[in-house]
Amino acid sequence: MNAIVYHGPQKLSLSPKEIPIPLEHEVLIQVKAAALCHTDLHFQDGTLNLNSTNFTLGHEIAGTITKVGPSVSPQLIGKRVVVYYYVGCGACEWCLKGEEQLCGSLKSEFGFISDGGLAGYLKCPSLNCVSIPDSLSFEQAAPIGCGVTTAVHASKRADMKSTDTVVVYGCNGVGYGLVQLAHNMSCPTIIAVARQEIHRSTALKYGATHVIDGTDSSTVAASIREATGGEGASIIYECVGLRETMDACVGWAGGLGKRGRLVLIGYAAGSENDFRCHPIPLVVYEQSVIGSVGATLDDLKEAVQLVADSKVRTHVDSCIGISEVLGKDGGLARIKTCRCNGKIVVNDFTS
Ligand SMILES: [Zn+2]
Ligand SMILES: [Zn+2]
Repeated sequence: MNAIVYHGPQKLSLSPKEIPIPLEHEVLIQVKAAALCHTDLHFQDGTLNLNSTNFTLGHEIAGTITKVGPSVSPQLIGKRVVVYYYVGCGACEWCLKGEEQLCGSLKSEFGFISDGGLAGYLKCPSLNCVSIPDSLSFEQAAPIGCGVTTAVHASKRADMKSTDTVVVYGCNGVGYGLVQLAHNMSCPTIIAVARQEIHRSTALKYGATHVIDGTDSSTVAASIREATGGEGASIIYECVGLRETMDACVGWAGGLGKRGRLVLIGYAAGSENDFRCHPIPLVVYEQSVIGSVGATLDDLKEAVQLVADSKVRTHVDSCIGISEVLGKDGGLARIKTCRCNGKIVVNDFTS
């Protein structure tokens, strides 16, 4: 089979790999769709280096179970599923609470430290599979595995409520999910900040009440204040993670209001993108800075249900073959240079 293999920073290749054999509690999935993610770029450029190499990238995975290990019911064969990409140790306090994304001794993390879904096949524990309804195509389902479920998790970290004034800073994958979750919750003010007009108009379609052009980030805080009657937002989801975008959120004149929660989801390489803020405005405004990483298995189940019920839609930019992932006009390069709206999904693993 063909696979997109990570050999280290700047070293990705399309390479042949053996089809894996499912062990004891595992299943073999024929991958039908795998979405590309900004995180894949972080591997490519060296921002994310988890000291593991020579594994297949791809953590937004949908497919069909074609084989099962000895301890798994053969009735699962033929099931259409999305994959939860963490396999925790099962014994630490976080795993016992169902928060595998915080496990310090992960057994696997598909597409991060172990073989992911940018390949014809993937094996994983049967418990990591979440069924998808027939009404969803594989292409619609794959981006749930990270894009939607990351948004669901972040909204819980923010403790989002119907009274919140919400800013989604950076709209493409996770951002569209967050806009729709805030819309479902009937939040009165939902502000989407994006540099590209196409991203702003898509956010409006998904329920944003205001859009702000983020091209000049030095003007964003004032625009958020204006849209919130001077109060500032009660939640900002920061999906970009550049110094200038984070600066627009905090400080005396930042976009975040009193007792506001800044949820950091995106990040970028280099100390020039360290988060910085003098504590005084944080203290005086009683603001919180919250990190949010990945999701729990329950978050993924909830995300699948939301998409199945048409409450959240995954936004697919285009579908490509596995040979079109790398290269200067490949899928990853298009994400890097913002030449896509929504998810680029690989749905052809032969060419
Ligand atoms: Zn654990
Ligand atoms: Zn992702």
